[in-house]
Amino acid sequence: LFITFEGIDGAGKSTQARRLAEALRREGHEVVETREPGGSPGAEEIRRLLVEGAPARWSPETEILLFTAARRDHLEKTIAPALARGAVVVCDRFADSTRVYQGARRPGLRPLVDELHARVIGREPDLTILIDMDPETAFHRGLARNTGENRFEEMGLAFQRRLREGFLALAREWPERIVVVDGARAPEELEREILAIVHERLQ
Ligand code: C5P
Repeated sequence: LFITFEGIDGAGKSTQARRLAEALRREGHEVVETREPGGSPGAEEIRRLLVEGAPARWSPETEILLFTAARRDHLEKTIAPALARGAVVVCDRFADSTRVYQGARRPGLRPLVDELHARVIGREPDLTILIDMDPETAFHRGLARNTGENRFEEMGLAFQRRLREGFLALAREWPERIVVVDGARAPEELEREILAIVHERLQ
């Protein structure tokens, strides 16, 4: 089973991905926890090109190519082998982030994202948990996290609002795959809700 977490910066994706992976391991599943951009040695190198350096270093088109290159390596080296041996893969962000972020940077780029995805990735997750959250609340959480590579501040609140709308629109596009959960709820409650959704898919 290939599970991804999506949502705006600071929505709690990493925390919930880790909690889900731990819960599934306690039940005896082999779980591979991974993230994007990154998730394989090559893709982590590309991640550094993307998240370090000046904010406007890459054009939106170049960004799409770099994210897709990283995703291809991640899929080849980490995700596909894990799924082939029957492991559950829990991934923090995947192609939906590129659809939404790069689409929000410049409208009209979605066809390029989709075309590249069809040619070199060609796979959707079995289940995507979209952690929906109001950008103001996420903003404060994002700052508190302070990972040093969060691009939230330079992108601003208006951009985060566009991202939120973009993710919700994607969920309407793919209702069977993308399940929306409320990120404002207590982490423990959210964890239980997500585990119940995953159990349903594991049957
Ligand atoms: O999720 P994480 O914080 O690791 O992502 C790193 C940064 O890259 C974030 O600030 C996120 O907003 C950005 N990003 C992006 N386009 C993507 C995926 C992530 O701009 N497709």
